[in-house]
Order: sequence, then C-alpha cells, then structure tokens
Amino acid sequence: MQTSLASPLCNPGSSGHPFLCARPCVYMMKRGSCHVQECKYCHMNHDLPVTKLNQRQRYVLQRLAMKDKMDLLLAALRAGLHRDGLTDRAGSLLYQLEVEASMHPAPEGRQIHKRQMHDLRKALMRMTLNDNIKAFEDVLPAQVLQSFQDLRQTFSRSCDVSVPISSKPEQSLKEALALFPIRAAHAPVLIWHL
Ligand SMILES: [Zn+2]
Ligand SMILES: [Zn+2]
Repeated sequence: MQTSLASPLCNPGSSGHPFLCARPCVYMMKRGSCHVQECKYCHMNHDLPVTKLNQRQRYVLQRLAMKDKMDLLLAALRAGLHRDGLTDRAGSLLYQLEVEASMHPAPEGRQIHKRQMHDLRKALMRMTLNDNIKAFEDVLPAQVLQSFQDLRQTFSRSCDVSVPISSKPEQSLKEALALFPIRAAHAPVLIWHL
C-alpha cells in the first residue's frame, strides 16, 4: 500500500526535513535508493549545496572558550531559524542555549584572530541547523541536544502519510527556497520576541 511510498522518507535522518534534517544520503543522491536500515542521512530532495566546516575552521572552533562557542552557536541558530521561518517553534531550544551561554564567563583576551572568527561565523551561518548543532555536539548539554531533537520530531510527520501537516508540503518547500534570497536581503528584524 502506501508503505512503499512512505518508507524511504521515514528514516531517522530525514526527520525534520527540509530545515532540521541531517545532510543528504549519498546513496539516495547517487542511485536514488538507499539500502541502509534506519539510515541517519536525509532521503529527501535537497536543492541547496551542503556546506560544512573545513579543517581550519574546526581547529579554530575547538580552541574557542566555551562562552564564545555558545555565542557563535546562538548567532548561527538564530539566523538559521529566522531564515527557515522556525523561530516561533524554537523558543525552548534558544532559551536553553541562552541559559547555557550565560553560565560561562567571557574569556579574558582573545587567542583567536578576528579574521578567523569571522570566517568561522560565516561558515556556520551557511550550514543547516542540524549541522550547526552537530558541530557543537561534544560541548552541548544533553537537554539542549534533546530540545533540538524534540524540535525535529515536530516535523517528522512529513513521512507519515496519514497525518498531513499542510496541504502541499512540497510546494511550501519550493516557496521557501524561492523566497530565501529575498528574505535574507530584506530580513525584517523580528528575530527574537519569544
Ligand atoms: Zn532533508
Ligand atoms: Zn540513506
């Protein structure tokens, strides 16, 4: 029945598609099918290129003080959530991260070059929300990671054909992607009211 249609989309990695899912599955990209049970990568269509941190950026990130890490992640998440129209749904995640950020003292003096910080920040802003979280996974408290997973779960029904969230999910994705450059350019400042 509908199982064959729905099952490729219902793997864990596709949860939260298009904005909160994992990066695209290489098997799906190369062959259009994936044999991995419970595959952790997204099986849905991704039009935008996937970006991740390069070696230098990862190195810079590792050397940052905890406070700087949390501030960077918060900035990247706020921008990404706003870009993807998810700010309203992520109040609890952002709140928990702010609490976490407030618990760490500002570092004395900066060891990291300004230009490297700028480069890292720019790279994070281009990444998906899921990759943002992943880049900081080792230093994030469990409840923050859980909060992100909870947020993803609120979108996981895209693979449940019996519970349509909106009438035309594909169209709304296309619309969102089409709107993306315009919204970024004219982004109104209503990022943080919750
Ligand atoms: Zn996806
Ligand atoms: Zn896969």
